[in-house]
Amino acid sequence: MSENTCRKAALVTGGGRGIGRAICLALAAQGYDVAVNYAASANAAEETAEACRALGVQAVTLQADVTDPAACQTLVDTAARTFGRLDVLVNNAGVTADKLILRMQEEDFDKVINANLKGAFFCCKAACKLMMRQRYGRIVNISSVVGLHGNAGQANYAASKAGLIGMTKSLAKEFAARGVTVNAVAPGFIGTDMTDAMPDAAKQAALAGIPAGRIGAAEEVANAVAFLASEGASYVTGQVLCVDGGMGM
Ligand code: NAP
Repeated sequence: MSENTCRKAALVTGGGRGIGRAICLALAAQGYDVAVNYAASANAAEETAEACRALGVQAVTLQADVTDPAACQTLVDTAARTFGRLDVLVNNAGVTADKLILRMQEEDFDKVINANLKGAFFCCKAACKLMMRQRYGRIVNISSVVGLHGNAGQANYAASKAGLIGMTKSLAKEFAARGVTVNAVAPGFIGTDMTDAMPDAAKQAALAGIPAGRIGAAEEVANAVAFLASEGASYVTGQVLCVDGGMGM
């Protein structure tokens, strides 16, 4: 793509691998310049940025741990400064620490809430100032079907993902009149490192509950994110789009 000052720019947290990587590539394919955030996986993030550049856009990698509010502010500011604007924020970074509640410690709960919910809060807070000033913005929060329906062994994760949905709807109401939409995507069972780590029995049980009869691909989640991030989704806000092969019906 040739140099174009009107080109739009996106920041994807945890964009180096898994669903985040697919989102970076889907946005790059739509012509967005992309800031690929990572916490620890520098090589994966650089590989993702390189794959975005191969699609003809600008891409940079930005290290930041989203549990750190100051780092989130710097992350958003740096992405916006690098590209001259910030149109899309995708809060994708997430972790699990699965245990039945009898075994779950306060640290397990805090770890998951801090990364999945507070991290998104910090990034939204930093990005919304820029977006409201621009009178244009798209925020997409990656929730989960578990946030809608719960899951044994994931009280911390379900709370974080349900919290994201409540935050999404609240921010959608706060920003709607300023041209900034806020939506959530709720993936079901998607093949990534996160789900590869599940025990085989848990995978089989999850698979049995999917009407589509298969695990989803990261690209299928990314397609939904790309729609909600697009100009064409201008009248869609405060929604939760499930990408789950029918799992949550
Ligand atoms: P993944 O393969 O485990 O990747 C997690 C990503 O989050 C990595 O890029 C990781 O970056 C980043 N991350 C974790 N903690 C971070 C932090 N503190 N600061 C910045 N980045 C951080 O997981 P995934 O399956 O792609 O999941 C992506 C999102 O989709 C998560 O929010 C997850 O909850 C959600 N989701 C996944 C599924 C599924 O079936 N896979 C289903 C529903 C929802 P580093 O490697 O650099 O740490």
